[in-house]
Amino acid sequence: TSSTYNFKDYIRVISDFPQPGIRFKDITTLLKDGDVYRAAIEQMRAAVEHLKIDVVAGPEARGFVVGAPLALALGVGFAPIRKSGKLPGATITASYDLEYGKDQLAMHTDSISPGQRVLIADDLLATGGTIATSINLIKQLGGEVAGAAFLIELAYLTGRSKLDGVDIFSLMTYE
Ligand code: 5GP
Repeated sequence: TSSTYNFKDYIRVISDFPQPGIRFKDITTLLKDGDVYRAAIEQMRAAVEHLKIDVVAGPEARGFVVGAPLALALGVGFAPIRKSGKLPGATITASYDLEYGKDQLAMHTDSISPGQRVLIADDLLATGGTIATSINLIKQLGGEVAGAAFLIELAYLTGRSKLDGVDIFSLMTYE
């Protein structure tokens, strides 16, 4: 069954990408194995089922790879969170700090209805900046952030502390 996989065996750690000193967690080695990918999504689905999610939201690009199959598994829709300038319809935006400068994420104004219970999905929780900005957007639209689900959590970057009050599930944790 799905629970027999040790998912970390399918993550490739690449040193000094994208910058010296970073140990990048490459998920493509998990994604290319259909059975392991399916098992990972199924475990995430089972972990968040009790949250009674109405819609899944995921930030581009790897949040789509996790969020869209998770939405289908839950039987709900998917709302994309994109870099500003990419979505064709009316949008709202929220800024976040990068190491140098700022960037913006955007959502369509009609992608979430007020009162909907939203699950945020992404491949990896690091500092939590991406998810904090995603929470900002969902709240602007009147959505309720019911939970967040990740393939991987880098616990030593304490991103979890930025997501106060949000139910967080991580399939794998690196201490
Ligand atoms: P945060 O905003 O939590 O600091 O960073 C998380 C975002 O950066 C996620 O959207 C994730 O895709 C990306 N990210 C940061 N580090 C890694 C990594 O080691 N591996 C992967 N796959 N993504 C990463």
